Formats: sequence, structure tokens, C-alpha cells
Amino acid sequence: MSSLRPNLAAAYDPEHFRQLGHRLVDQLADHLARTTRREGPVLPWAPPSTHLEHFPADFPEQPSGDLSELLARVLDASHHLHHPRYVGHQVSAPLPMAALCDLVSSLLNNGMAVYEMGPVSTAMEHNVLRWMAGVLGLPEGSGGVLTSGGSAGNLTALLAARQAKAGYDAWSGGPTAGPPLTVLVPESAHYCIARSTKVMGWGAEGVTPVPVDARYRLRPEALEDALASARRAGRRPIAVVASAGSTATGAFDPLEAVADFCEKHGLWLHVDGAHGASTALSPRYRHQVKGIERADSVVWDAHKMMMMPALITAVLFRDGTRSFEAFAQEASYLFTGQDTRRWSDVALRTLECTKEMMALKLYTCLRVLGTKLFADYITDTFDLTRRFADRLQSSGDFELAVPPDCNIVCFRHTPRGVPASELDALQVRLRESLITSGDFYLVQTTLGGRVWLRTTLINPLTTDADLDALLEALRRAA
Ligand SMILES: *Cc1c(COP(=O)(O)O)cnc(C)c1O
Repeated sequence: MSSLRPNLAAAYDPEHFRQLGHRLVDQLADHLARTTRREGPVLPWAPPSTHLEHFPADFPEQPSGDLSELLARVLDASHHLHHPRYVGHQVSAPLPMAALCDLVSSLLNNGMAVYEMGPVSTAMEHNVLRWMAGVLGLPEGSGGVLTSGGSAGNLTALLAARQAKAGYDAWSGGPTAGPPLTVLVPESAHYCIARSTKVMGWGAEGVTPVPVDARYRLRPEALEDALASARRAGRRPIAVVASAGSTATGAFDPLEAVADFCEKHGLWLHVDGAHGASTALSPRYRHQVKGIERADSVVWDAHKMMMMPALITAVLFRDGTRSFEAFAQEASYLFTGQDTRRWSDVALRTLECTKEMMALKLYTCLRVLGTKLFADYITDTFDLTRRFADRLQSSGDFELAVPPDCNIVCFRHTPRGVPASELDALQVRLRESLITSGDFYLVQTTLGGRVWLRTTLINPLTTDADLDALLEALRRAA
């Protein structure tokens, strides 16, 4: 006979959970209130060793300590993305409602590799993807999966492109079963594209670079040359990858022209819209992704411009059945029965086997908060970004790298009297000074061999006054 030990019984006690939960939500709401009122630092800067000391691997055998106390320290010491002066990497200030959904997902833990392990989240995933495909203008018959981030999403899409276009079965035979493959990729693409082709065993020449113009957009007239040079090098080009929102500058490649080129040459068009596919939600800005509806596959991160917590990435295929070709393998212990193309066993089509209930947060927020919230968010942040760029341009002591296509702005401070040769070092020092003070969080990038400050206006609570304060803080720090 066995009986539940007292420590396990206490850990699963519903009344204990109720009390902890109420306290925790109060604690998080207080934290959210302070952070959104701009109280406290954005990033409470500390070197890695500090946190190693504060959060040691020192685990008692018996219950000890207090959840609120430990989590209070976590909240204080963490990076505060809801702070309106967070203007750094492309990571969202999540909708609090979405965070509550993640709690539900964690408690239910419906793994959803197969339908039976996640019946509701499987249905929500299917329908939220249909809605997203509709937003992009993809045709009937499109479909896809949710996966863990844009990097995994791009790999998933390129695996399907390979099965469709290689001309041989590279999944079973490996990369040496036919001619070596390559994809045409703008120089401004995210590094995960090159990483994906290397994962597939195509080596460094698995990516054929396509030059970009002065605004960091793929030059469509350079595609023919890139294609010819790949062929001369003995490669079989199978696809073009275009960015809808490149990472460094947020540049949108000319999708219509790229789609024409792909059509002409029978190439797969993959659009990396991890950051910018959400632009299609905004009536004012959706023209910037015109042509995305002609893509064979699209990656779209909801944890970037849809205010979702990480991770939730859609991989959409214009022909939904292509989705089954990314991972064309069988696992009979999981996928019993004859039909290996059941849409409802999503792990047939994902890198993940077990997966969290990803769709729950997005489906729920769309359903409860409505779609206009998401459209307004894109329109307002893009508007804010354009006003910020205008102020930089007319300031006299700041230089704008390029006019922004979306909500990413790269710029540098050029105070009078600082020689050009010292400007790179100045930007690095300015950023360091601002982020260690905790007043702002921004990042930096290198463009054209020069260092630029880089901001992503991703928090809907950021205002024009915050951005004025940013420029003032940079002037003071200089
Ligand atoms: C952010 C980003 C990625 C990577 O996505 P993750 O979700 O961070 O893995 C890929 N491509 C582009 C264009 C991105 O902006």
C-alpha cells in the first residue's frame, strides 16, 4: 500500500495553490504598475557573477523559504520589458492576459505532439494559423504549424522547400544524394538562415548572398547574377529568402519583384517575416508587405510584433500539405494508424515532439481583446517610429542610418567637435552609460562598417516624451 508523502501532498494542495496564486498575481500587478510608471531601472545592470551569487545552486532537502520573497528578488533583478524606456531588442512587452494564459498552459501541460495530448490547443493552433494565413492573403488550402521561435521556424520552412525543390530525396538520402543545394539570401538576412542551411549539411555555400541597396533592401536586379554565380559554382539554387523586416534595420525586401523572379525560375519563395509579417495587420502599413501572399512559406513571430511572450512562431505554407514534407518521417509509437498526414497530430510537422500549448495565448487574446488592438498597435508604433526618425533628422546632432520601414531605428550621436574617427567609440560608450544607469535600454549594430545605436519601439507604452528624454540622456552622457 502506498500513501502520498506529506511533502508531495502539500506541493499539490489546491488550497495552497490558491493562496500562492492570489499573492503572486498581486505581486505581479504591483510590479507591472511600478514598471509602467517608469519607476526603477529598465535593466538593473549587474555582471553575470552577481546573479550567480544571488541565485546559487544551494537547494535544501526540506521545504524552506518563501515563494514571494524569492520571486520578488527575481522581479527586481530582471530586465523590465514593460518599462516604457525599454527600446532594445525585438522582444515584446507581453500582454498581461497572455501571461495568464501561459500559466494555464503550464498547469494543464497538454503537450500536443498528438491530438489526444492537446485536443483544445490543437484546434486553436489550426484555427489561429488559418486566421494568420488570411491576414497575409494566402489562398485557401494554406496551412502550417506553430513552433519555438523564428530560428526553428525558418529551418522548418527551408526543410520543406528542400523536399519540394531539390529534385531528389535529401531527407532520406542526405545532402550527397544529389547536386549540392543553395538558397539566395540577402546580405541583410538574419543569421539563422545560414545556420539552417549549415544544419542541413550544405556548408558555407549553402547560402548565396544577394546584395542589398542603400536602404538595406534586397536588390531584385541582382538576383539573376546571384543565380548564375551559384550555378557556375556547381550549386542547384532552390529558393530565395526575402526579409519582411530585416533584423538590423527592419528593412522590407521588395516582395513583388522577388516573387516575379521566383515564378520565372521555378524557385521557392520563403519570406522571413519573423519581425515584420505583423505589418499586414495594419491598414495603414500593410502595403509594405505586398507580395507576401505569393510566398510559398512565411515565418511570423507572434512574440515580436503581436505582444505575445516567447515563444510562438507561425510557419505558414501556401500549400498546407507541404508542411508534412519538412519532417518526412514516421514514428509508429506516436503516430499510429495508416494516415501519416493527419493535420491534428501536429508533431508530424514540427521540430518539437512535446510542445507547450502555444496557440492558447494568441487565440485567447485575439478572441477576448479583439483584432483591432493588434492592428492599432502596429499602426501606432510605426507612426511613433516615423516621428522619432523625423526628430533625429532635424536635430542637427544626430544622424539617421536609414528612414525606418517599420519600428526599428538606427542612428548615432554626432556632437559638434567630435572627430569622425572617434564617433564609433562614442556610440559604444554612450550605450554603455545609458544601459548601466538603468535609464534606458537600447542596443547597437554595425552598418557600413560604422557603429550605430539601434532601437526597436516595441513597447506600446513608449511615448514621444520618452524618446525626447532618450536624446537628452545621450546628449548629457556625451
Ligand atoms: C528575430 C528574428 C529571427 C529569429 O527569431 P527568434 O524567434 O528570435 O528565433 C529570424 N529572422 C528575423 C528577420 C528576425 O527578426
